[in-house]
Amino acid sequence: MKTTATNPSPQKVTGRFAPSPTGRMHLGNIFTAVISWLSVRKAGGKWILRIEDLDPQRSRQEYARQIEDDLAWLGLTWDEGGVDNLGPNGSYSQSQRGEIYARYLETLKETGLTYPCYCTRADIMSTQAPHQTDGRIIYQGTCRPAGFPTGKRTTDPTDRHATRLYVPDEEISFNDRVFGPQSYNLTRECGDFVLQRADGAWAYQLAVVVDDALMGVTEIVRGSDLLLSAAQQLYLYRLLGFTPPVYAHLPLICNERMQRLSKRDLSMSMEELRRNHTPQQLLGLIAHLANLTPTPTPLTLDELTTLFTWSAIPTQQSIIFNFKNLL
Ligand code: GLU
Ligand code: ZN
Repeated sequence: MKTTATNPSPQKVTGRFAPSPTGRMHLGNIFTAVISWLSVRKAGGKWILRIEDLDPQRSRQEYARQIEDDLAWLGLTWDEGGVDNLGPNGSYSQSQRGEIYARYLETLKETGLTYPCYCTRADIMSTQAPHQTDGRIIYQGTCRPAGFPTGKRTTDPTDRHATRLYVPDEEISFNDRVFGPQSYNLTRECGDFVLQRADGAWAYQLAVVVDDALMGVTEIVRGSDLLLSAAQQLYLYRLLGFTPPVYAHLPLICNERMQRLSKRDLSMSMEELRRNHTPQQLLGLIAHLANLTPTPTPLTLDELTTLFTWSAIPTQQSIIFNFKNLL
């Protein structure tokens, strides 16, 4: 066995913020950005800004530029990525990365675990039991060939179809940095999922895994609404032979009506937040929501970096936020 005098240096912590440029960011989005940035900066790592503009109808370049401007206003600097930049892996905008996703789709097809799906959304909805329709769609395997998975490579039909990936009927487990041990059975939770839509659009699950793996991302920080997606993504990491990242899902910020913030909560949009607060006030508020400080006292990013620790982050599903109580 070959020995060396020094240990290889451990891989540098690499985090990322991966917004979809479909509107102005709100408090929930910047909460995620700030926590991801703090974790990486505290570890002396690298932070990537990736633009998830896979949906051509809803994504706009001006929203992506606005996201950059809002991050810069807060002082959140990125080391790689952004709207116009190229890096070791090409563009950091998903709309420009289709050829890369196509290569990995081929790799997945070679496993023999994919199949063409001809269902419309209406077909899929009509197979849902009423209790399963809490917003989430569970694919029942309508187009799955008999005897699947056979491991046998069949020729792809040339007509218009989506490509689905077979999921095993087994638990996929991981340890979330905030929520602790997690276990999901993909057959029960989502069924065989789409890798590429019939119109050629790439599915989020495939794009995000390929990008995170090729960009060397070691730590994924995002909202707890994506916990199940982490299980789907870990399955893809396994099939593609990539090293999985550490996942840290964050509680979702909700308004006083207990609803998760959305682009409709205008008072929580960066437009309003920037009009009414300084960056330090907003960072102080985020620090308080993250349980890092007892009160929402204004803070600089340096002060916040010193205070940051994962052990403080609340582990409940949501954080109710009411401006009146806080500012
Ligand atoms: N683009 C996704 C969003 O804005 C985030 C995906 C992720 O962080 O994995 O919701
Ligand atoms: Zn189908």
